[in-house]
Amino acid sequence: MTFGGHDPSSGAGIQADALTVHALSCHPVTVVTAVTVQNSQGVLDYQLITPQHIFDQAKALLNDMDIAVIKTGMLGNDEAVKVVGEISKSLPGIPLIVDPVLASNTGQSLSTDELVPALHEHLLPGATLTTPNVDECRILGRSRSIESCVNAILKLGCRNILVTGTHDSETADVEHTLFMAGGRSYRSSYPRLQGEYHGSGCTLAAAVSAFVARGFSVDRAVASALDYTWQTIKQAYKVGYGQFIPQRSVCSED
Ligand code: PLP
Repeated sequence: MTFGGHDPSSGAGIQADALTVHALSCHPVTVVTAVTVQNSQGVLDYQLITPQHIFDQAKALLNDMDIAVIKTGMLGNDEAVKVVGEISKSLPGIPLIVDPVLASNTGQSLSTDELVPALHEHLLPGATLTTPNVDECRILGRSRSIESCVNAILKLGCRNILVTGTHDSETADVEHTLFMAGGRSYRSSYPRLQGEYHGSGCTLAAAVSAFVARGFSVDRAVASALDYTWQTIKQAYKVGYGQFIPQRSVCSED
């Protein structure tokens, strides 16, 4: 069950989640938290869905079917974070994967100032995994040092953090590190692909969710999701004048 914004270009957001989850042999159910006005070049505007309506969408699904995993993307404001936190808390044992979406890849803000404190209070303490890029990690952890940030986020109760390195232009290859509570960490690197890709973060977090839904352990799910996402980017295609769209129907290597 993914919570996120509607992206009419099908690059990011709920559509990225649904395409990815379906490609990885799971059934996506999607709760819309925002309706955005955007294309492959950027976000022009968005409107948030009310917390009550977010709750009602989720409740109707939960009354009808068993959910394997909850994944969050764009939530937009603190009220949405709170309601999703309450839904997650009412489902103990269901893994929660938090993609801390704060802004679009093209630089437009997709959140209010109250979003990060709300993530700290309502979502990260119960999260199985969060998937920040280095910039988001520094905002969530409130430090320049990634190590301090990771420790701060783990201290909130979040059990695993996958810090993605696509935005770290200082490294030739793209390096991603999974930090686990208890001190283990795994680093993986992938050749840096040139170009801008719309919805790569959403694709990665949705892919981890699908592999976790299929019963993979978090470290194995992350490894498979990173391989899958790199393939979707390698085979990305251009439908508009802006960023490339990841090809989610590539075969997974699991
Ligand atoms: N969710 C929505 C609804 C978006 O519009 C965007 C970016 O525009 C994102 C998430 C984040 O996308 P990305 O995976 O490119 O960071």
